[in-house]
Amino acid sequence: MALPAGANLEARPLWASDRSQADAISALLRPPTWHVEAACRQRPDLDFFAEGRMAVTVAKTACTGCPVRPTCLEWAVSHHEWGVWGGTTERERRRLRKRRRAAAA
Ligand code: SF4
Repeated sequence: MALPAGANLEARPLWASDRSQADAISALLRPPTWHVEAACRQRPDLDFFAEGRMAVTVAKTACTGCPVRPTCLEWAVSHHEWGVWGGTTERERRRLRKRRRAAAA
């Protein structure tokens, strides 16, 4: 296959040549800094992504008293996370987003 006229043989993929983009991708893959204080870090026995009602209820109890609960909730609301975050389920956060949109209208 012939290279197109004017092809830049020195060109690298964007991720390799653009440090800021590589940093941004890296930041997306790292847990948020507030997660250091997360109560759930002490509960590896719990499944925060379970679907059964009982498992969800148990996971939500770990959020009670978590020092970063409000931050966690806002993170999940803005990032459309799934599972239990900030003491809420995905459905509860969907309702919260809907209420907020209605209040802002
Ligand atoms: S609020 Fe719940 S899910 Fe969020 S960091 Fe705390 S324990 Fe973990």
